[in-house]
Amino acid sequence: MAGIYIHIPFCSQACYYCDFHFSTSLRNKSKIIYAIIKEIQTQKNYLNGEKIHTIYFGGGTPSILLVDELSQIFSAVKDNFALSNNLECTLEANPEDINEKKLNEWFNLGINRLSLGVQSFRNKDLNYMNRSHTATESVQSIELIKKSKISNFSIDLIYGFPLLTNTAWLNNLEKCINFNVPHISCYCLTVEKKTPLFHMIKKGDYRSLDPLKGKEQFLIARKVFLKNGYTHYEISNFSKPAFYSQHNKNYWNSTNYLGVGPSAHSYNGISRRWNVKNNALYFKKINNNECIFKEEVLTKKNILNEYILTSIRTKYGLKIDYVFDKMTLKQKDSFKKEINKLEKKKFVIIIDRKIFLTEKGMLFADSIAENLFII
Ligand code: SF4
Repeated sequence: MAGIYIHIPFCSQACYYCDFHFSTSLRNKSKIIYAIIKEIQTQKNYLNGEKIHTIYFGGGTPSILLVDELSQIFSAVKDNFALSNNLECTLEANPEDINEKKLNEWFNLGINRLSLGVQSFRNKDLNYMNRSHTATESVQSIELIKKSKISNFSIDLIYGFPLLTNTAWLNNLEKCINFNVPHISCYCLTVEKKTPLFHMIKKGDYRSLDPLKGKEQFLIARKVFLKNGYTHYEISNFSKPAFYSQHNKNYWNSTNYLGVGPSAHSYNGISRRWNVKNNALYFKKINNNECIFKEEVLTKKNILNEYILTSIRTKYGLKIDYVFDKMTLKQKDSFKKEINKLEKKKFVIIIDRKIFLTEKGMLFADSIAENLFII
């Protein structure tokens, strides 16, 4: 069981908070598509013939591509990899790109899941983030998706920024519930260096974020979604039964995956690779048959720490025996001590030799994982 991630590095507009790799100039679109297809062909043995269970078109904004361009990439994947009969194929889409014709064409191509970048149902929040769509376009796109053959879809929402009151956040959540959206990813806004948001806050044009607000709004989302039949299966993800993202689950389960496109990462259980993060350079290197990635061979410690970081965030928990098997006596000792401390503070609970975050612990997931890391 393996996955393929395809990074489409183009967007129509730059969101102020975004630190993903993308370009707002579409000038080199054909060249990049050519290069992605060539990378798929040259990396056909990377996953050692494993069947592909998930394909994920991420970005950037993959919905910006013409259907014919998506089709060329999809054909390259089909020609070079064995696909599972239960393939989950996700396309990240922005609301302004959705229409009935495209939804039909995407479905016919094999796209069976959409991840829609809504972020908020209020125009003033969208302007604050410099999103390229309006709240009305978001609502219309959800209505169109619900009428289409693609029944599996997810919505991304952002919380924790100064404009968003708790009442406004609650309204955003209720809209998702009223639309019966099967899967919702909620992300607390973070300020990444080098983003316009970082500079605007530094210059005093935008207010700083209040971390307490983020925590409060996380708890509101959790309460509302649990009450309405969603499972909180990972810190940022809520789902109705049978709509969990297989792509996410594979990532948390350390499944092997090939990432293609500029800035994409790959993992094969032994090493991690990351592609060059520059469209022109990516094309040039692929065209000249040069290496496009840097690679790090993972140590036992790296693998263990990645497992700790991802598993503790999920409803499946961290398996104590799995990590103990891989630890020295000294490492086990300090791990046990740390767990005892976290249990006393009611940040974690242990059930059937698995460690789970409590609701209180979820608010500090990353620092808890870091405390458990093997050094
Ligand atoms: S659409 Fe997505 S990838 Fe593009 S700038 Fe906005 S957040 Fe970043």
